Amino acid sequence: MGVNQPLDRALEREGFVTTTVKSMLGLLEKVINLGRKNAVWPYIFGTACCSIELMATMSSRYDLARFGAEVVRFSPRQADLLIVGGRVTLKMMPVLQRIWQQMPEPKWCISMGACASCGGVFDTYTMIQGVDKFVPVDIYIPGCPPRPENVVDALMMLQKKIEASKVLT
Ligand code: SF4
Repeated sequence: MGVNQPLDRALEREGFVTTTVKSMLGLLEKVINLGRKNAVWPYIFGTACCSIELMATMSSRYDLARFGAEVVRFSPRQADLLIVGGRVTLKMMPVLQRIWQQMPEPKWCISMGACASCGGVFDTYTMIQGVDKFVPVDIYIPGCPPRPENVVDALMMLQKKIEASKVLT
């Protein structure tokens, strides 16, 4: 534990220190967010070419374990990050929504690639023109296909978002 000089001085002088419930809750919030951001468990909803890049991201070359996000779950009940990679059709959307609803709170979503984010070049009546119309998306990854580095970048952005989120207040 690092040396906290003002705290040490206050202890020497008074024999006790005081704090507020608000600052203790703030500290608790920081600890909770630290745990959450460094232990994200992804659920992969890969339907097309983007998911191949996603598979590459999970390889040892990119080493998602550095961010604590290498534990890919294949049950939505054990995951807190939904990564949608690829085209999603109207017929598939109820399945995606069901998966999202089965994931416990708190949960986050990354939309990977042009197709998932806006339909890409597939402006047809069967294709969803952006999954954010049906599930709340936190981070969008542009590109067709995005590279694994983009996925890592999105994960780091999500970690910053989780770090800044309000848990108790
Ligand atoms: S964005 Fe490009 S690479 Fe990704 S699923 Fe669509 S067509 Fe394939």
